[in-house]
Amino acid sequence: MADGAFTPPVRVDMLVCGKMVPGTARMEVINPATTEVIGTAPRCNRDELEAVMAEARAAFPAWRDTPIEERRKAVAQIADLIEAAAEEIAATLTAEQGKNLTFARAELASLTRFLRAQAGIEMPVVVNEDSEERISKTYRVPLGVVAAISPWNFPVLLAWWKIVPALLAGNTVVLKPAPQTPLAALKIAALVADLFPAGVLQVISGGDELGPWLTAHPEVDKISFTGSTATGRKVMEGAGASLKRLTLELGGNDPALVFDDVDPVKAANKVFWAAFANAGQICIASKRVYVQRSIYEAFRDALVAAAAQVKVGNGAEPDTLVGPIQNKAQFERVKDLIADSRAHGYTFAFEGEAPQGPGFFMPLTILDNPPDDARIVREEQFGPVLPLLVFDTEDEVIARANDTEYGLAATIWTEDMTRAERVSRRLEAGTVWINEAIYLSPDAAFGGRKQSGLGAEHGADALLAVTEPQTVTMKRN
Ligand code: NAD
Repeated sequence: MADGAFTPPVRVDMLVCGKMVPGTARMEVINPATTEVIGTAPRCNRDELEAVMAEARAAFPAWRDTPIEERRKAVAQIADLIEAAAEEIAATLTAEQGKNLTFARAELASLTRFLRAQAGIEMPVVVNEDSEERISKTYRVPLGVVAAISPWNFPVLLAWWKIVPALLAGNTVVLKPAPQTPLAALKIAALVADLFPAGVLQVISGGDELGPWLTAHPEVDKISFTGSTATGRKVMEGAGASLKRLTLELGGNDPALVFDDVDPVKAANKVFWAAFANAGQICIASKRVYVQRSIYEAFRDALVAAAAQVKVGNGAEPDTLVGPIQNKAQFERVKDLIADSRAHGYTFAFEGEAPQGPGFFMPLTILDNPPDDARIVREEQFGPVLPLLVFDTEDEVIARANDTEYGLAATIWTEDMTRAERVSRRLEAGTVWINEAIYLSPDAAFGGRKQSGLGAEHGADALLAVTEPQTVTMKRN
């Protein structure tokens, strides 16, 4: 692959039965910073999907029966191939997703770190009984065909970190990236196509119709889905008919709790990136920030000062720190939340600058203590708009932080580690960070509580999510 250049228009194909194929229909992909068409990807139709699913099913028994060390050898090479092409994939990510090149490179670096760790996962065997009468063991066995569905905010990380545990465990996989951002994911598919027997790993792209077709398909045994809570509910309904196994990584409305024993300026600079990185389009971004009264004003002013230094623009320009919103629908959603805040007369602490269209640029916006029932507090904004809220007591802020249908992550900023530990255990969130944010590890379970998800990925759960137990008991004479 060429190094670092992204020269539109690009044409990517899908990985079907071991080959890159163009598909009979194509769909356009645009750059959210310019709204120009930058490439095309296949728009998989029903017949093509049927062929893909038949291949995935047919490839399963032989892959399941392949010794795990051979499977490990194959998956271990994915990270190396991505790394060798990292500059070109990063440029593609910037072009289709909008994030700046530094963040695009960081997404790839994070991905390869996860892939390497996942390739080392061991398949445990538990001996339940080893007596004169019998021996009983419980194995973890693959589920069959796994459908992996991913969103547009981290188009390669969230898609490709589903792949290695599933393949290593002996499943076959069909990956479907988001329709808005298929280019980088399919470029990686082309890189790794030769690592696996035909049908073991397939990567397909399509329009809005493809996700529902895939999740309802009778050949799918397991759906590993990352996306919004609204879509997650539909996926769960679709899975019911054949009792498909599910992992759902869904939306969040993550609270950050800033206690008054911290340096407000230092904390504000950290919270700023926890909220505004990737233009706020991170499931685990801080989306509501509760600040204890005595430092509220100092914190607010420091956050505004941090925001004022940041350039919003085309991610391909070297001085851009925050890129555009990835797509028009999301751009309109965020605009609507700002308009709602204005219509209700809430105070704006900061309204930054952003280039005028045609790209989906959104000024960084900070709201000064809107009420708890404001839409910008209740809803997941998934954009660069942040409400700051005043609190007085620990009990009060925990109750307000938990007063949501979501339960993805939360952050606590304090110097008092006893308090931090106590508060962390009372927060209804799958992940809690203390004095840092957005740190994920391949060794730590990551999943949402309440309507932020079902099941988890990574850590011990990486394997549990793609296998089920099989107990084999043998009677001895
Ligand atoms: P989305 O739910 O609209 O789409 C996600 C994926 O699902 C896409 O590939 C889409 O094509 C597909 N899809 C859409 N409708 C479908 C259906 N009916 N059946 C099956 N598949 C369908 O989400 P999005 O807008 O792409 O992403 C943003 C959302 O994702 C935010 O809510 C964010 O918080 C969430 N998210 C969660 C995590 C996490 O790990 N918990 C990570 C990133 C993003």
